[in-house]
Amino acid sequence: RALGLPWSVAELETADVRERQRQLQLEQALHGALERGEFALHYQPQLDFASGRIVGCEALLRWHPPGLGPVPPVQFIGLLEESGQIVEVGAWALREAARQAAAWERAGLPLRVGINLSPRQFLNPQLPRHIEQALQASGVTPARLELEITESLTMHDVEHAIALLRRFRALGVSVALDDFGVGHSSLAYVLQFPIDALKIDRAFVTHVTRGRTDRAIVRAIVALAQALGVETIAEGVENQRQCDFLEALGVTQAQGYLIGRPMPAAALQELATQYRRA
Ligand code: C2E
Ligand code: CA
Ligand code: CA
Ligand code: CA
Repeated sequence: RALGLPWSVAELETADVRERQRQLQLEQALHGALERGEFALHYQPQLDFASGRIVGCEALLRWHPPGLGPVPPVQFIGLLEESGQIVEVGAWALREAARQAAAWERAGLPLRVGINLSPRQFLNPQLPRHIEQALQASGVTPARLELEITESLTMHDVEHAIALLRRFRALGVSVALDDFGVGHSSLAYVLQFPIDALKIDRAFVTHVTRGRTDRAIVRAIVALAQALGVETIAEGVENQRQCDFLEALGVTQAQGYLIGRPMPAAALQELATQYRRA
């Protein structure tokens, strides 16, 4: 092999071609996927430390095209975003999440449901209408719907982003800043946003029991959240030690495989009910 590398150039090219073929295959399979009912939402539980209850969940998109097996979001969200289909799929996800939250509410389970917004969706002028329609059609208490936004959504036009967020909040829905801590935004920048929660990125949660730096970052985020009077939701909590550390640091809620993986709505409802009985 040339240069003693583990792969030959030809092999690398073949891998590259295969990757591109897969992309093309997925791209094609995405046409009409929504109409064919191939998308579903799974819900990942969020535990509230103070009450010991499941108080919310995050809705996560799942795609299962027949014959191709389940495709993880990292492989198709980008394709939906590039083609613009994310606007339509996102509008469906908003309606579906709101419908589910309303159903839980009627069943006596007032769960907050977080829903991710992509950059293209955020910039689409139809978004406020899509949110209003989801609220109206479902009849859910607006605050139960929590829009998860990332810094990358708001970076380009801060003024516009703030105006939009104000508009959403006027509708009564909640807003969470997702993947918090991994971006480059300054404190002053973040402070301008009208939000209800900060979601602490998994990157800091993973080493919270070991690294002084990560612990210091979590502590700083908690202090910021407390000053703003907003919740902190730690993402990617995988073991009890992390959970205990986070609680001790003053984080208010935990989400991760320890509490539960993303699951179908019925399973989430069962889990939340168990917690209420315990
Ligand atoms: P995200 O918003 O940061 O979502 C959290 C991701 O972390 C989910 O991956 C979840 O399954 C995973 N996760 C949760 N707990 C743990 C844990 O304890 N350990 C580890 N290792 N991972 C954990 P998922 O479902 O694969 O989604 C990946 C990303 O795809 C999401 O990241 C989000 O950016 C995007 N996404 C998912 N659903 C939607 C959607 O409906 N709309 C949009 N625009 N984006 C979505
Ligand atoms: Ca999220
Ligand atoms: Ca996240
Ligand atoms: Ca993340």
